[in-house]
Amino acid sequence: MSQPVVNTQPAPGQLATAAVRGLAPYVIGKPVEELQRELGITDVLKLASNENPLGPSAAALAAMRRSLEETWLYPDGNGHDLKMAISRHHGLPMSQVTLGNGSNDLIVLLAEAFLTTETSAVVSQHAFAIYGLAIQAVGAQGRVAPALNEASGMPYGHDLEAMFDLIDDTTRLVYIANPNNPTGTWSPTADVLRFLERTPPSVIVVLDEAYFEYARGYGCPDGSTLVERFPNLVVLRTFSKAHALAGVRVGYALSHPQVADMLNRVRAPFNVSIPGLVGAATSIGDAQQIARAVQLADEGKQLLLRELPKLGVKPYRSAGNFLLVDVGASGQAVYDKLLHQGIIVRPVAGYGLPRCVRITMGTMPQNQRLLAALPECL
Ligand SMILES: *Cc1c(COP(=O)(O)O)cnc(C)c1O
Repeated sequence: MSQPVVNTQPAPGQLATAAVRGLAPYVIGKPVEELQRELGITDVLKLASNENPLGPSAAALAAMRRSLEETWLYPDGNGHDLKMAISRHHGLPMSQVTLGNGSNDLIVLLAEAFLTTETSAVVSQHAFAIYGLAIQAVGAQGRVAPALNEASGMPYGHDLEAMFDLIDDTTRLVYIANPNNPTGTWSPTADVLRFLERTPPSVIVVLDEAYFEYARGYGCPDGSTLVERFPNLVVLRTFSKAHALAGVRVGYALSHPQVADMLNRVRAPFNVSIPGLVGAATSIGDAQQIARAVQLADEGKQLLLRELPKLGVKPYRSAGNFLLVDVGASGQAVYDKLLHQGIIVRPVAGYGLPRCVRITMGTMPQNQRLLAALPECL
């Protein structure tokens, strides 16, 4: 007896776990080439992914170029030289460093290592979207604490008290972005310390410091100095932002050695490429390039914080290299109009901020170009 086959065969996508089927894909900043293809615009300015327009340290570029000769080999799966450089930079043993394919990799590995369908993780409203995706992908329960309000002085920022209140016996992870993307908000040292002191040791606290270099003047803690004191603290850093190495994908975690051990068990053995290892190890020693990047971002923020209100839009204070800007109407519409001027910013309706766009600080001429293009787009 032959059975009808066609109708009983599941569509292959349906074979994925329910958790994965429920995921909404992460929306990336529009690539320059895509806009060129779509609108035939050649002079595209991308201010959409918090990249550093100065580019990488010259020494790092040279080292990466040289390293291309060796790319027929697998990279050092232990990342020895880079871990050594990171270890020296922070004054922490190498056993407390885990390398990631960007810090995004580590955000996901933490969820894989510490969450199950029986556990929960806590994030803030408007927090970096990858946290929610990582939590959802493993089928854990994501709990979202309402953000701080306008009256708080840090609108849209993480409310660490509210986040603490969502922790219970099932909670294994809390993700804190300091500063946060896309809001630019930050949590001062005293608040972070209070949170760490109160949070039970059974909860891993992930302090994502992707914009650490830009945030130094804002009263944020340096998480790297806290990992010895709090065994449940994991600090994430990246080479994608101030170090301008987004394209080679390198990030790292600083943690208790046992947490590093667990992350290394779930990590893909060769998760950082040869150019990435070499570029990052060189860049970490180029403090001047970082200082230039931070100064440029500060100048850009000063300019836009001063000029944008004159155009009738509202920028929020930011400790990152970007500004969240309330355009009063549809952020998506302003984004679309800017695209036609060849400028890519980031719409953030997906973050629950439909009236806002996020704008990365460019070079000063680029920032001026944005200011000149904006009035027609509002
Ligand atoms: C950009 C960013 C990251 C990760 O970037 P990687 O390129 O994967 O290192 C992590 N957290 C926040 C808050 C970010 O904005």
